[in-house]
Amino acid sequence: MVTARLRMTVLAASLLAGCATPTFDGPITPPAVARAAMSIGANDTIRTQLAADLPGFMHDFADRMGALPERPMPFASYDIRPTDGFGRQGGTLPGQVFVHFYGEAWPGEMAKPGFAGDLAWHFAHEAGHLYQHQVYATGDQGAWVHEGGAEAFAAIAMHAQGKSAEANSHIAASVADCKKKLDARTIHAALGEAEYRVAYSCGLQVNLALDVELRRVAPASDGLFSVWRRFQEQSKGREPTEDDFLAAIAFIGNADLAARVCDMVSKPSPAFTFAAANSQW
Ligand SMILES: [Zn+2]
Repeated sequence: MVTARLRMTVLAASLLAGCATPTFDGPITPPAVARAAMSIGANDTIRTQLAADLPGFMHDFADRMGALPERPMPFASYDIRPTDGFGRQGGTLPGQVFVHFYGEAWPGEMAKPGFAGDLAWHFAHEAGHLYQHQVYATGDQGAWVHEGGAEAFAAIAMHAQGKSAEANSHIAASVADCKKKLDARTIHAALGEAEYRVAYSCGLQVNLALDVELRRVAPASDGLFSVWRRFQEQSKGREPTEDDFLAAIAFIGNADLAARVCDMVSKPSPAFTFAAANSQW
């Protein structure tokens, strides 16, 4: 039996280790995580859009990844006067998806034109984790697998839901963020030095490039989603690793592609493309 205390611990661990996504640079604080777990009320803007966007993303992912065993319960919370900080955090547990906003600046942010698209991406990312079935590549250096994967899931679902302009805006911002955060480091090195945003912004590009190349070399597959299904199957009953993900790429695509993905995350100045032409997503 899972006690309430244990559930809180599991949620905090999930948010801190796997899925915390502050909108702006800032520390992820345990008090903010605790509030996210405890508060259920939400700002109308967030709640309305959550209800409007989440079902479409989930329908798209269900078609590709299979239905979830249970209908997930969304939780949205909004803390306009936190003790400190400003940001947004999301997380998932089996059957549950969370989003928490904190900080006095959010009313102003919500009035900006790009807010709805940004929030839609955030929901798509969290919905992506639901269909990843809480599978995470262990170790800090493997975070590009599940966080970059959830970002790529979000990009694909946003396009499918007619939000291409918003998706392209987020991708462009990620390209700039990755370049800035990575600098001369490898993705592995940056993640090893706790530059966790690299898992999202650079990981998005790795996974989108991978999806494009998979659809070229394995046209009968569903690209990145097929790799994820294989990744989930082959790591049942144990903690999956980055090597498991690379093995799944080799299974769906080929060994050369897996080796090139490995190079992309372990060598400096990655180009985020696998072919000379027509490979940009
Ligand atoms: Zn995430």
